[in-house]
Amino acid sequence: MTATRIDGKAFAAGLREKVAAHVARLKSENDLTPGLAVVLVGNDPASEVYVGSKNRQTLEAGMNSYEHRLPEETPEAELLALIDQLNADPAVHGILVQLPLPKHIEEPKVLAAIDPAKDVDGFHISNVGLLSTGQKAMVPCTPLGCLLMLKDHLGDLSGLNAVVIGRSNIVGKPMAQLLLGANATVTIAHSRTKNLAEVARGADILVAAVGRPEMVTGDWIKPGATVIDVGINRIPAPERGEGKTRLVGDVDYASAAEVAGAITPVPGGVGPMTIACLLANTVTAACRSAGLPEPEGLTA
Ligand code: NAD
Repeated sequence: MTATRIDGKAFAAGLREKVAAHVARLKSENDLTPGLAVVLVGNDPASEVYVGSKNRQTLEAGMNSYEHRLPEETPEAELLALIDQLNADPAVHGILVQLPLPKHIEEPKVLAAIDPAKDVDGFHISNVGLLSTGQKAMVPCTPLGCLLMLKDHLGDLSGLNAVVIGRSNIVGKPMAQLLLGANATVTIAHSRTKNLAEVARGADILVAAVGRPEMVTGDWIKPGATVIDVGINRIPAPERGEGKTRLVGDVDYASAAEVAGAITPVPGGVGPMTIACLLANTVTAACRSAGLPEPEGLTA
């Protein structure tokens, strides 16, 4: 068997088009332009690239983008004051503080300061609680992207066995909650799980969010299963020249594709969905704040 390749790049482009269409409608019918504020503290090179892409894609979707770049040594109190200001600003519907933050700033304190209604990353404890109790929440972008792709590919997930490898707060746990919300039978596996390969082989849906290059191989996969590879790992690629690297997922694509029914590649799978879902969450937040109906196709 050779698995169907789930094209996250194309799916994300489609989602961004949907977002742009919603934005155009909100502008013309409701005089509402969704706005996203992104806060970057310091100059971590990877974070700078992410923030740049977020800004560009926000503008391309027709929304307002407010970028706040603060120096590395910004005191925590100053960052918290900026968040207060953004919380109070009616033009800002979504607030994202780019992580990681410099060491002298307490991350949980900063995340807790964001108005949960504007928490488009879905990391505020209120949103975590709402999601886990099956209520309307702001949902973390990466797992939301995975769920949208799974539903698009499989339709109804009811009763399917889903195994999520990884239990982080940003991917594994919310992914499991979303799958549970979609009526899958969910197992969360992690670094202490016994017989991991055997657990994985029970999965109709296998989500790998570990951060270990190509850990999941074809013999871990149930024939016909749908495999979502969240991992982004940079490994040496001497075949491309000295000092060169390449990106791989947590799944060994070549062997997995022989067994799976469908699989997301790395790059070009889950990755592009994350920012598209951030834009979707910003539109959702704007609609909720204005008391307008939930936009269709943008939420879990
Ligand atoms: P994390 O380090 O916070 O969590 C990793 C999880 O994997 C932990 O819960 C741990 O228990 C589990 N784990 C570690 N070793 C294991 C092992 N040997 N067997 C089984 N489980 C093991 O990582 P994270 O933030 O959840 O990210 C996971 C991966 O997803 C990383 O590669 C990261 O780069 C990637 N990621 C991608 C996106 C995206 O947009 N595509 C977004 C976030 C994270």
